[in-house]
Amino acid sequence: MSLLNASTAAFKRGIASSALRAQAPNRGMKVLAVLYKGGEAAKQEPRLLGTVENQLGIREWLESQGHEYIVTDDKEGPNSVFQQHLKDAEILITTPFHPGYLTRELVDKAKNLKVCVTAGVGSDHIDLDAAVEKDIQVLEVTGSNVVSVAEQVMMNILLLVRNFVPAHEMIQRGEWQVSDIARNAYDLEGKVIGTLGAGRIGSLVLERLQPFNPKELLYYDYSPLRSDVAAKVRARRVEDLKEFVSQCDIITINAPLHEGTKGLINADLLKHFKKGAWLVNTARGAICNTEDVAAAVESGQLNGYAGDVWNIQPAPKDHPWRYMKNPLGGGNGMTPHYSGTTLDAQARYAAGTKQILENYFKGKPQEPANIIVGVGKYETKSYGQR
Ligand code: NAD
Repeated sequence: MSLLNASTAAFKRGIASSALRAQAPNRGMKVLAVLYKGGEAAKQEPRLLGTVENQLGIREWLESQGHEYIVTDDKEGPNSVFQQHLKDAEILITTPFHPGYLTRELVDKAKNLKVCVTAGVGSDHIDLDAAVEKDIQVLEVTGSNVVSVAEQVMMNILLLVRNFVPAHEMIQRGEWQVSDIARNAYDLEGKVIGTLGAGRIGSLVLERLQPFNPKELLYYDYSPLRSDVAAKVRARRVEDLKEFVSQCDIITINAPLHEGTKGLINADLLKHFKKGAWLVNTARGAICNTEDVAAAVESGQLNGYAGDVWNIQPAPKDHPWRYMKNPLGGGNGMTPHYSGTTLDAQARYAAGTKQILENYFKGKPQEPANIIVGVGKYETKSYGQR
């Protein structure tokens, strides 16, 4: 089915469900979900719950209660299924992997919107200030994929430091020249490693780095580490950002995207990095300036950059992060955005989304940790110091 047909079919399904809603006026709420297209993989693998095909596994449950459920991946432009149905949806479910960007302009048009649920972690695709102003709650399935991301961070650190990608590519080309790889391969042991953002994911990364015997672990965050984690990992807090980056051999970014982190890693700050440092970003692409990072990798100021998050998703074919390389031909560990959408993570965020909806339908309080924006106010300190 073409994208257009899929969108039309989805729209018609919405109309059909509206009829159902008319029969059950006290129960029917319009729930709109923007998910990523799973294609053949989603047909073969039902545990790919976060896809348009498998619909978070909640269609039957929602419809059995008389609710209308629109699911689409068609999210760009005023004629998209997303923007058409947003006009009267009460609940919006989105995922960071294929973000339905809820701008201030769209918030103004979403007259019936009461709740936004992020199936996953990270709600920067929603204009949170606009949600505060309009009394729209924003909820995440907090913690649902933090282990998945922390594991990815570990993999990304290791593949950069050990120069894995060029080694693997060499093997696939049918070649064998150990020195070409070994000349830029190091051990993680004895390195200074820092996390920018030391919340749930940052803490898990610090814990997982312990057995590698780093020289020192550092963190930069306006909130101190949870005391139990601080006692376990003995990471030193550095309060000045330039000082922080200048001391690290490896930096991992684990802070949300907000006005205080957007473009934070730019040419100015990159000058203060140790020459040849490695940078891992599984938080959000727009925390790093695209061109400045690419230039730093190309010049060798960064020995490598790895991550799964991009300033535009899906990333265009000519995005410089797809192709950038350090002067020795390595240093690129980019993947599509998938670290937080492992099958294990999908089971957790699908279940968490259902729980949030159930609480809302029954008028029960939400889990406090899941509330990013409550009615009329921020309920978290993670999205900037307010
Ligand atoms: P969290 O709220 O537990 O922790 C975020 C930490 O960042 C907090 O301690 C906060 O104080 C800190 N922070 C905020 N602004 C900062 C700044 N300007 N400088 C330094 N520290 C700052 O969140 P989490 O669960 O650890 O997730 C962090 C982010 O990771 C999410 O917001 C999301 O963007 C990203 N994420 C990515 C994926 C993926 O699949 N790649 C999955 C989940 C989360």
